[in-house]
Amino acid sequence: MPIATVNPATGQSIRAFAADTPDDIEHKLIRAAQAFVTWSHVPVAGRAALLTRVAAELESRSESLARLSTEEMGKPIGAAREEVAKCALVCRYYAEHGGDLLAAEPIGGAGQEVWYEPLGPVLAVMPWNFPFWQVFRFAAPALMAGNVGLLKHASNVPACARAIEELFVAAGAGTEAGFGVPAGVFQTLLVESAAVPGLIADARVAAVTLTGSEAAGRSVATLAGQHLKKVVLELGGSDPFIVLEDADPEHAADVAVKARTIGNGQSCIAAKRFIVVEAVHERFVARFVEGMRRLRLGDPAREDTELGPLATAAIRAEVAEQVTDSVRAGARIALGGVTPAGPGSFYPATVLLDVPHDCRVAREEVFAPVAPVFRVADSDAALALANDTTFGLGASVWTNQAREAARFARELQAGTVFVNGAVASDVRFPFGGIKRSGFGRELGSHGIREFVNIKTIRMILP
Ligand code: NAP
Repeated sequence: MPIATVNPATGQSIRAFAADTPDDIEHKLIRAAQAFVTWSHVPVAGRAALLTRVAAELESRSESLARLSTEEMGKPIGAAREEVAKCALVCRYYAEHGGDLLAAEPIGGAGQEVWYEPLGPVLAVMPWNFPFWQVFRFAAPALMAGNVGLLKHASNVPACARAIEELFVAAGAGTEAGFGVPAGVFQTLLVESAAVPGLIADARVAAVTLTGSEAAGRSVATLAGQHLKKVVLELGGSDPFIVLEDADPEHAADVAVKARTIGNGQSCIAAKRFIVVEAVHERFVARFVEGMRRLRLGDPAREDTELGPLATAAIRAEVAEQVTDSVRAGARIALGGVTPAGPGSFYPATVLLDVPHDCRVAREEVFAPVAPVFRVADSDAALALANDTTFGLGASVWTNQAREAARFARELQAGTVFVNGAVASDVRFPFGGIKRSGFGRELGSHGIREFVNIKTIRMILP
């Protein structure tokens, strides 16, 4: 079956690609295995040279890449450009620091060291919501460590997937003679998720990483377990955004608008549950609803659009159902909540108040600009509600008291805690979750050590 792209702003088909045949897949696996033999022996300076070239290619193609994601998954063009720039940043970060992060660590006397060696071809199963960033934050450290990459991207972003492979090919061709970038150091497989079990089972695939939903994570982790392969999972989140009594509720509300609507509300670390103490609830809600109301919803290709469509019609239908079910359970719509007529999979900025703690928007991840606001009596109640979730990706708390900041930083069950800031990823810091948000880490020094053999060397020579 061809892999087709629909523009979510119009509902129109844009293009279709022939899916890889079993022969194509076999050919790519052979190439990956061969490439690994060469690439794993390229010194770190050579690997860094490739990543630096990739960063330059990303920058020189920024406009066309950004337009691809705007077309395929509806990202507003300005945000799409920022995403491409961040991909270049992560390539440069690992090009610059990878050598130090992977350097042999002496322990004890001479000849006693820990080495970090690559594992082999790593399969990356990736989502559409940041069609470039998700891939590069895996690929940059994995390749810097000497692995090679095999990308199975989400089925609605095939042109982005192909463009990424082309970047690596162009960058590899441009490295100085002698570094020997093999063909196949990074390849895109145009396949549907039904092909993933066969890929994980294949002896040439050394490890797997998945960024995506809980359901996909469970399936990939089961397969990786069956075949005893290392797996990293970056899954969903329902991040709390907590506003305590002593915070500035208007400032927090302004940031909350951005935190909820990043990626059209379809980011794993978008704030998804707004927990506000009684004393500042009214002021927060007034400003927040106004800020959400003012967002310009429309064509993501326009420079002034702040909110584009949801990525697919199916996602919109699911979101509409989550909202309707929650309203039926007692939530009150303060803004939005009605699916607009007309083409495209647009969904308006929506704020829900008086939200019951057990309704769908409270319990499930909502991948849309939909914001449930919970009123709580005090900071203890806020902390308890924040942790009352199966997810544990990020959390943001707003307070001016150092003591409360420290308590929330310690007690919040999440991979990342921001105090007086919205949760964001940063190439220098580890990123990942606990509970059903997954396990393993990307970025920083931790990310580059996920797909390596941490090898103990104790050499006793005469
Ligand atoms: P998804 O439906 O799980 O898809 C993600 C990837 O997994 C796609 O390539 C998809 O392929 C594949 N896939 C789906 N089901 C699979 C299965 N049973 N076995 C193997 N592969 C499977 O998720 P999505 O809707 O694209 O992305 C949204 C989710 O990703 C959200 O839950 C979001 O929170 C999460 N996410 C997490 C992070 C993080 O860092 N923690 C970052 C971004 C997104 P097809 O497209 O071909 O189905």
